[in-house]
Amino acid sequence: MKKVKIQSLRILIQSLFLLLALSWLAISIIGVTRSIHQFCPYAVVCFGLRWGVLLRLGGVLMSGAIIFGFAVLVSTLFWGRKFCAWLCPLGTVQEWLFALRSRQYRLKCKLPFYADTKAAWLKYALMAATILLSIVGLGYVSIKLCPFYSLSLIPRIAFPGLILLILTLAASLFVSRPWCRFLCPYGALMNVFQIAGRKAGIPRKLVKRNLERCTDCGLCSLWCPMNINIGENEYVENVNCIHCGICAEKCPKKGTIDEESVCPKQL
Ligand code: SF4
Ligand code: SF4
Repeated sequence: MKKVKIQSLRILIQSLFLLLALSWLAISIIGVTRSIHQFCPYAVVCFGLRWGVLLRLGGVLMSGAIIFGFAVLVSTLFWGRKFCAWLCPLGTVQEWLFALRSRQYRLKCKLPFYADTKAAWLKYALMAATILLSIVGLGYVSIKLCPFYSLSLIPRIAFPGLILLILTLAASLFVSRPWCRFLCPYGALMNVFQIAGRKAGIPRKLVKRNLERCTDCGLCSLWCPMNINIGENEYVENVNCIHCGICAEKCPKKGTIDEESVCPKQL
């Protein structure tokens, strides 16, 4: 019952953030404001690392998106990638599109676990490229490719980003959260922060499987939207876990999966 309530709360918060983003988009269409990108925490890289911005301390550097982006990165040190499952509008739309498919399709359409590990380099490469481009003052190149930013200049749409957005949404009908798993440079940056936090010995919330109660049915891994092999260990150490709580909700033995703040030395 508690887990069902958590899922209802998550859907409510996701809906509110999606509504907020769509309202901002609507306002940008009529030209009151310039950019839905003010919602994107990756502004911490795209705008935060531009030399021009750094030289204008107190100006764009202090904009809400950059502060928000940095705050989310710090939060991942303690709570992991909750942002992706609870707040990100792009994550929400991908999740809801995949949910349109039948239960049978969603359970059958699974890539092998190693495929996610192998494809992970893509998002890290995108992260490295965007950081480099921003530092040398060419951040606008990556911004034009950003699916979120593509909507920001309506009616002057950035077409490369729009194409990427359409492809991402279309792919979401076949694969769970393709942008979050394979391409999101902010997801990669959150992963880097979590790995640094682990090395620094900072305790972080992890999904925990009670080994005494677990029957190894494998349902939790089958339903995991990030294709994580939950049955591999007692704790889900995988930095791609977005703390959606779906594994706990789908587990037939209620109370077997929970979250716990764990010191890296305990692992
Ligand atoms: S391990 Fe559980 S909480 Fe983490 S992403 Fe997978 S289903 Fe969500
Ligand atoms: S769904 Fe529950 S019982 Fe089944 S493997 Fe996962 S934790 Fe164990």
